[in-house]
Amino acid sequence: MPGADEVLVRVVAAGICHTDVHLADGNLGQGRWPIVLGHEGAGIVEAVGGNVHHVSPGDHVAFCFVAPCGTCPACRRGRPNLCETASANAWAGVLPGGARRLHFPGGGDVQHFNGVSCFAERCVVPSASAVPLPRSFPLWQAALIGCGVVTGVGAVRNAAQVRIGDSVCVIGCGGVGLQAVSAARLAGAATVVAVDRDAGKLALATSRGATHTIDASTEDAVAGVLFVVAGGVDHAIEVVGAPETIRQAFAMLRPGGTAIVVGIAPQGVDVAIPALDFLSEKTLRGCYYGTMNAAQEMPALISMAADGRLDVGGVVSHIVGLDGINDAFDRLRRGEGVRSLLVLDHEAAGYENGKGPAA
Ligand SMILES: [Zn+2]
Ligand SMILES: [Zn+2]
Repeated sequence: MPGADEVLVRVVAAGICHTDVHLADGNLGQGRWPIVLGHEGAGIVEAVGGNVHHVSPGDHVAFCFVAPCGTCPACRRGRPNLCETASANAWAGVLPGGARRLHFPGGGDVQHFNGVSCFAERCVVPSASAVPLPRSFPLWQAALIGCGVVTGVGAVRNAAQVRIGDSVCVIGCGGVGLQAVSAARLAGAATVVAVDRDAGKLALATSRGATHTIDASTEDAVAGVLFVVAGGVDHAIEVVGAPETIRQAFAMLRPGGTAIVVGIAPQGVDVAIPALDFLSEKTLRGCYYGTMNAAQEMPALISMAADGRLDVGGVVSHIVGLDGINDAFDRLRRGEGVRSLLVLDHEAAGYENGKGPAA
């Protein structure tokens, strides 16, 4: 049984994200395993603890991977995505209060990943991580909300605060970057330049509203952007997590512009940028988990997806089972495909009637 403030969920589908690969590859610190990965997913509640009243067994839920404590300095300042308690728990691989619900059959603990660990048939999550869903919203799409959509949309809306008529460049058009392209378009950006090294991803970016594309495998991204928008863009959203692309994001800004770094660079990696550029009031800022209270905002994002304003399912390039996760990781390492979706229950995933993913 789950603890008093926990929810036991039967996982139906989960998105496979580059952050899972980063952890597996040791880029987010050593000693973080054994662990059950997976931080974006959806499923059906099987049991709830005594203090949980917002969901009941049978309810559909999507996962939110930061469960804000509400009392730490970050939470009190209205920055729940930066909750210090949730962060400490995440690094320690435990649930709130230090709880561990994952163990080897013969004894020995297994770490939790961001309180979700949904690459599994069942998972126990903190109450605040279980976001209720309308039954009519397909679980395979709900599985993609908790990281890709929150992060991509939040970077544009909350971190960059894109306004009508602005120019935006998105560097890296994977599962998160494509959501950022859509969000920039929804926010009224006049120009949305998509940069990637993969022609297929650039085609998807165009279908989501990118006005220009730059294939970085053959063209210099900064020169390309400056050719499209003389003087540089207002906002550059970096969704790769590499020093070179972070430098490019900063270099392609117009004076007063802001580069938002969403991509996760491996621990220990530094980025050098020309300090003189600060004279032109350029900003380089990070963005974690969409700079939002995800659990609070996910229902609104879900309703936008449900009525077609936000294309969630279009990022899915591969459907896999639990035995396909390692191949999905390899695709992410090679930069191939967009989002691989782990599906554990095809019937419950809700993609019948021709409304399923293309993969
Ligand atoms: Zn993720
Ligand atoms: Zn907190």
